[in-house]
Amino acid sequence: MSDKVILTGARPTGPLHIGHFCGALQNNVAIQNAGGYARMYGMIADAQALTDNFDDPEKVRANVIEVALDMLAVGYDPKKSILFIQSAVPELTELTFYYMNLVTVARLQRNPTVKSEIGQKEKFANGLPVGFLTYPVSQAADITAFGATIVPAGDDQAPMIEQTNEIVHKFNSIYGEVLKPVKIITPDSESAARLPGTDGNAKMGKSLNNCIYLKDSADEIAARVKTMFTDPNHLRVEDPGNTKDNPVFIYLSVFAKPEHFAAFLPEYKDYAELAAHYERGGLGDVKVKKFLNAVLQETLKPIREKREALARDIPSVMEMLRVGTEKARAVAAETLSAVKHAMKLNYFD
Ligand code: ATP
Ligand code: MG
Repeated sequence: MSDKVILTGARPTGPLHIGHFCGALQNNVAIQNAGGYARMYGMIADAQALTDNFDDPEKVRANVIEVALDMLAVGYDPKKSILFIQSAVPELTELTFYYMNLVTVARLQRNPTVKSEIGQKEKFANGLPVGFLTYPVSQAADITAFGATIVPAGDDQAPMIEQTNEIVHKFNSIYGEVLKPVKIITPDSESAARLPGTDGNAKMGKSLNNCIYLKDSADEIAARVKTMFTDPNHLRVEDPGNTKDNPVFIYLSVFAKPEHFAAFLPEYKDYAELAAHYERGGLGDVKVKKFLNAVLQETLKPIREKREALARDIPSVMEMLRVGTEKARAVAAETLSAVKHAMKLNYFD
């Protein structure tokens, strides 16, 4: 058995969307189903969600179950993966406190993902909570607590992994070799590693109201696609169009498979042919959006149906999370004990 340990997380700030699906969830489920790893974790990061939603505990609580349903619906298998709730593993908070000594404020302020998130949050205009600035340190605790060696995630997580590895190296050089370095796995396609929003924003994000959710009904998907941002200069059908900054085409490049072309738009063989026609002019947005709608309906229907079935028995989902959390806690406690031992905090051993 390999010693690969895989961990990914999602913040319960809203249900999961197609950006999560192509950015992280799909990679995760593929690794899970291929096997050959030592352990696999899916963390619902409620404590992290509170760093920018501390004033809305109801929202975070309600979305824990939404995120659990989404993870299960896309194929997380509780027989193979440990799904757990972050705040119910208090060892993570304790690790975070010790790791905080190993990171400077300036280094956190330079983290590009944190920087851009701060800029987008109006509620931080009057002051930045310490908890939000330091959430990359808590991510280092999450990752190292389980000895994770691989994190499948979107590319916004690359700076977090870099910061985790800095903490790992600093910890190991001061206190001795205890923590393992980690690698990020992002999707091969740049578009899937950071799927843009339906509004043309560079990232689809739960907090940005520009999402197509995995749980959306067929009508909701159709309505979102209809009002999607396209190329604003493509005014008449015969005008040449831009596919590079056009979320409709970016979604198609990620989600449209040859069988979708065969079933719904057989006059084109593949994405390249369709994109070439749009770029030279003569292809209207309505037709392309109709195709995108068909592709997304086909992709999301089985996920939505599985989710609806799971949602009929919430107590079972909660029980699965309770069991997963218990298992996760035992592993995190071992790491914490090793960390405290290395830091000479083991007075009563
Ligand atoms: P929030 O706005 O609350 O931060 P989010 O939509 O960014 O929510 P997270 O829970 O922060 O979602 O992210 C969970 C995982 O999904 C991470 O691995 C992240 O990289 C990935 N992810 C999130 N949004 C996208 C996206 N638009 N494209 C690709 N991957 C994404
Ligand atoms: Mg995020």
